Amino acid sequence: MNSHLPPPANCHLPTVNCPQPPLPPQHSLSVNNLHYRYPDGREALRGVSFAVGEGECVGLIGPNGAGKSTLLLHLNGILPERISGEPSVYVGGIPVTEENLPAIRRQVGLLFQDADDQLFCPTVFEDVAFGPQQFGLDEAKVRAALATVGLAGYEERSPQHLSRGEKRRVCLAGVLACDPQVLVLDEPTSDLDPRGKRELKALLRQIPATKLIASHDLELVVELCPRSLVLDGGVVVADGATRDLLNDAALMLQHGLERPHILQHWHPH
Ligand code: ADP
Repeated sequence: MNSHLPPPANCHLPTVNCPQPPLPPQHSLSVNNLHYRYPDGREALRGVSFAVGEGECVGLIGPNGAGKSTLLLHLNGILPERISGEPSVYVGGIPVTEENLPAIRRQVGLLFQDADDQLFCPTVFEDVAFGPQQFGLDEAKVRAALATVGLAGYEERSPQHLSRGEKRRVCLAGVLACDPQVLVLDEPTSDLDPRGKRELKALLRQIPATKLIASHDLELVVELCPRSLVLDGGVVVADGATRDLLNDAALMLQHGLERPHILQHWHPH
């Protein structure tokens, strides 16, 4: 249809019968002017705004104390403890409000910085099944998630007796078993050895969910995230192509970051 044609004479906008322009694609994650102050008065987020499209993999970088973990905890409503007022975070278009928390937690899988914070059951199977149990346990999904992370056969092992890398993969299996649309990862490679890092990166690459990855491991961010956000002082100070941001020496210096080794010999031509 020629969009320059005038509407038919009997069409008075708005009307359900007239063709409407297509809606813009839904963002998987949308954060609008998010502020947060801890109960002791410390202001950790001062008006954070950004959106992440479906299937995007976005890095979240910034110095210690920038507010990265605080931001991630808002994405499935762990913070604040009681949500009040106008919602600032939307997941798949659904506002993060008290009554939407069960739906939000199903959609957003959060991998904590410290695997030990996420593992508390006597066996690997029980730990991975803990999340899906909230939504009606699907044993097949638990086993499939363990197979995805390369831990088939670990079901009866104690999570406390696993290596750091294996613990992290158990946590990831627990998140994947809930089939999240959005994966939020806080320092996923911290305390992993080089092989553990390589395996985790390969694993994350295979997972089609929308991802937001907070990390000081800038090589991981370059390899996995075409786009990054730089957070500092509770504010997004830059949002753009990861390689452009990390090649901006002044920006890196100003926000306590460093151009990673992997980019030292990279030229944009
Ligand atoms: P990052 O993850 O970027 O290192 P955080 O989100 O952990 O940053 O911290 C942001 C700010 O909030 C820092 O100033 C930190 O000291 C403060 N903060 C973090 N957790 C708490 C807490 N539980 N109580 C009070 N202040 C906190």
